[in-house]
Amino acid sequence: MAKTYDVVVIGGGPAGYVAAIRCAQLGLETACVEEWINFKGDPALGGTCLNVGCIPSKTLLESSEQYHHLRHGMGAHGIHVEGVRLDLDKMMARKDDIVLQLTNGIGALFKANGVEWLQGHGKLLAERQVEITARDGSVEVVGADNVIVATGSRPIDIDAARVDNAEGLIVDSTGALDFRKVPETLGVIGAGVIGLELGSVWNRLGSKVIMLEAVEDFLVLADQQVAREALRQFKKQGLDIRLGARVIATQKTAGGVEVSFKDKDGEQKITVEKLLVSVGRRPNTDNVAAPEAGLLLNEGGFIHVDDRCEANLPGVYAIGDVVRGPMLAHKGSEEGIMVAENIAGQHGHLNYDAIPWVIYTNPEIAWVGRTEQALKSAGIPYKVGSFPFSANGRAKAMDAANGMVKILAHAQTDALLGCHIIGPFASELVQEAVLALEFHASSEDLARTIHGHPTLYEAVHEAALSVHGRALHKINT
Ligand code: FAD
Ligand code: NAD
Repeated sequence: MAKTYDVVVIGGGPAGYVAAIRCAQLGLETACVEEWINFKGDPALGGTCLNVGCIPSKTLLESSEQYHHLRHGMGAHGIHVEGVRLDLDKMMARKDDIVLQLTNGIGALFKANGVEWLQGHGKLLAERQVEITARDGSVEVVGADNVIVATGSRPIDIDAARVDNAEGLIVDSTGALDFRKVPETLGVIGAGVIGLELGSVWNRLGSKVIMLEAVEDFLVLADQQVAREALRQFKKQGLDIRLGARVIATQKTAGGVEVSFKDKDGEQKITVEKLLVSVGRRPNTDNVAAPEAGLLLNEGGFIHVDDRCEANLPGVYAIGDVVRGPMLAHKGSEEGIMVAENIAGQHGHLNYDAIPWVIYTNPEIAWVGRTEQALKSAGIPYKVGSFPFSANGRAKAMDAANGMVKILAHAQTDALLGCHIIGPFASELVQEAVLALEFHASSEDLARTIHGHPTLYEAVHEAALSVHGRALHKINT
């Protein structure tokens, strides 16, 4: 007789492990099936985010930024630094150590909360049975009153540039987080979030980075005023971003990879030492459910779910990258909490309109809510307020007075509709707007809130004041 749990979660990334912990907190007997094998050859929790995504990328972004700042950013403060030297092995070892600390931490959280980790590949069978195939090939079947599928995503492959991380010439994000030498030239296919973040890492460490982006517009999901400013600043930093450039073929050579692409000037070729392919990610649904389970997928291979993340089968849910919506760790985690609470009979919900986006470049880019172009095309009347960091005392003191805060509010009700930031610590500043949106605040609510001085948050305050033409530290137009 198969063991039966209240909940079995398939996948232990930020969606699945958070769902499992929340289920256990609510008194449900919970198991989590996870198959990840880490760089040491050990089973690991944490999924893409902790092992090869958010955490290692942010660790390298921080290290590379400190290196770059020491070499190029101290002079303005009157501090002369000599003899700065890069120890890439140590930088990588630090990243690996942080990844291990955090992924082991999830194991400890599972133990503390009583979540059972079933190691191996999980597959949904009919009637909420789950088959688990261990590394040694042994198979076990367990039953569950509820199954949460949280199997995540993986990089999209393109025929023109086949990834081989082991060879290390044409790589995906996992390969580009693990170069053991700074490449002289790095080609990047796709100037999206991963391309920009990892392109920035290697640019700061000394690579010449050339980015080939198929579409003509830059950062299409971002507010286009912010995107234009970002493009200007990234180009100034030496990132060679070519828009409207479609890669048609690659050829490995003695010195690296020859990349053929087409742009408005016709067919072109560049040769780079390494090539990163970062053209998006696709859901992991290939071997996640047996046909007799009857799990419905949609066109892109995502598991079909409703607003409460319920799939087409009773008691089966799906969360995180494997379902519609932005592929962001915090979105998956919040879906996990919502589903766990609904399984326990509570009233979990998620406000999909208040999910923050952050791109951890320098300057950082962050936003929440609607963009100006989205409001225009939806015909929603709006007012704009903005404030430049060049007029913010704290940003000046930090020598980081680039970029701006832009706030969009409804023209009639003044309800906050969106906040778009490019500048220092945008990742942190945006949280004020997330909270404001969650509480259905108006721009006047933000404008009437006392902000400490001198802080970067004053730029958010001033942008809110500027919605009504009463910013105090800029000439109102
Ligand atoms: P995953 O994290 O992909 O986890 C899914 C887990 O399921 C994996 O551990 C996998 O082994 C397991 N699994 C899959 N199939 C099975 C199966 N059949 N049986 C057992 N186990 C299975 N997002 C952010 O919000 N902020 C960032 O800064 C950020 N940076 C990123 C940087 C990079 C380089 C990358 C690649 C991604 C980044 N992301 C970031 C995106 C983020 O990593 C994902 O949105 C997030 O990991 C999705 O969580 P998930 O739990 O849905 O899936
Ligand atoms: P992306 O969707 O952000 O960017 C992919 C880019 O590749 C797009 O600009 C697209 O136009 C371009 N592209 C597609 N096909 C192409 C082709 N054949 N040639 C040239 N360009 C092409 O995807 P990504 O950068 O791979 O990241 C995947 C996901 O991971 C993101 O959507 C994001 O949700 C998540 N992520 C988030 C963070 C963060 O939150 N800071 C960081 C990294 C990744």
